[in-house]
Amino acid sequence: MDDAQLLDQELRRLTVAGWQIVSQSERGFQVMMPHVVGSGVSTLLVIVPLGLGIFAALFSAVWGSMLFSLALVLAALLALDHIGHKPRLLYITADQLRQPPTLVKAPNSVTVCPRCYRAVRPNAARCPDCHVEFAPA
Ligand SMILES: [Zn+2]
Repeated sequence: MDDAQLLDQELRRLTVAGWQIVSQSERGFQVMMPHVVGSGVSTLLVIVPLGLGIFAALFSAVWGSMLFSLALVLAALLALDHIGHKPRLLYITADQLRQPPTLVKAPNSVTVCPRCYRAVRPNAARCPDCHVEFAPA
């Protein structure tokens, strides 16, 4: 298999797993795992107290403002959570794919399995998910 085929195969495998292509060349490619906020659930967490707040404000200013404050705090926490999760980046080269599997250090300093790209312990001897044995670094 030549480099292009090898990279193409790996790229297809990764995009199916949810990775997005950032850049691509003859020698390799870069993919990103977008941080997915459970948008439905997180929106509800803010919308529900906000809606209840509006409703409660019709009857009681105290309860209304309490629920508004709750909605604000939850919105702030969700924003912080979103900032805290950086997208995961991987740079894959054809040379890398030809080598025996060694642990890959992602740019955000998370150690990942070179086969399934799940995070693993930095000193792991094998992947707990796909069970590939790592060659000593
Ligand atoms: Zn694995």
